[in-house]
Amino acid sequence: MNTLLQDIYEEVKPMLGTGKVADYIPALASVNPHQFGIAVCDTKGEITSIGDAKVPFSIQSISKVFNLVLAINYYGEEMWERVGCEPSGLPFNSLVQLEYENGIPRNPFINAGALVVSDMVQSRFASPYIAMRDFVRRLSCNKNIVVNKVVAESEYEHRAKNAAMAYLMKSYGNFENEVEDVLRNYFHNCALEMNCEDLARATSFLANSGMSSCANGKILSPLQTKQVNALLATSGMYDEAGSFAFKVGLPGKSGVGGGIVAVVPRRFSICVFSPALNSVGNSQLGVAALTSLSERINWSIY
Ligand code: GLN
Repeated sequence: MNTLLQDIYEEVKPMLGTGKVADYIPALASVNPHQFGIAVCDTKGEITSIGDAKVPFSIQSISKVFNLVLAINYYGEEMWERVGCEPSGLPFNSLVQLEYENGIPRNPFINAGALVVSDMVQSRFASPYIAMRDFVRRLSCNKNIVVNKVVAESEYEHRAKNAAMAYLMKSYGNFENEVEDVLRNYFHNCALEMNCEDLARATSFLANSGMSSCANGKILSPLQTKQVNALLATSGMYDEAGSFAFKVGLPGKSGVGGGIVAVVPRRFSICVFSPALNSVGNSQLGVAALTSLSERINWSIY
């Protein structure tokens, strides 16, 4: 595994300098784009990593995976009445489909879907973002994971589009709580800072039929794990989901902080981090590294 990661790292590293860091808030625009790390975790929790795998970064939309898992634990099948399981084929923050589809978001990984899921979580916890922070701490065996308050506050100040989606859903009756409260918690989740090793460990249950290598126990049932992986495979990379399936062939989730997690069912969970993004908002080197990995060894699920 060490040699494999080394080879991929050397192959992809020359791409540093291409792509563009997220710039919709100053706290992300100032991140150094010349960072690149990879971590792989096996089902026993054994980690192999390279490069900037211990550098914490803003997990952004990767938090939607943990948010969804928390909600599934409380709502089970019932939650699929409020959010769909179809790919959207549109940018992650698109508003257009929502009105056509009566305020029911296509899937839990576009922003509208994650906001509905956050609304569900909000109905069950007095302090939802603390519940989420504690959940990721438990999943990654790292008690030091924290929310970057500057990022959370800055996201809230630039909330207009996410707020528009949430209010539109409220007008259709698909939102129970105060929109502003849910937005605050959603942005706190996006602003969690974790490194590649934390994220590879925290998603290891997805590679192990729902059993965590770290939290020492069942996080999801095997059926629920299969469902989450299917959603990741079809919708985790937004409007790049098709070509990601084509090139990489693994369930995956990206975030505009430059992280991508990917799952090799029954074998490994992987996290790649490099902050410069491609035109659809996925890590440029992240996609390249996972493509190289898939070409070198046949881990594709297809
Ligand atoms: N905080 C970002 C937003 O809500 C997350 C988007 C992402 O990582 N794709 O717009």
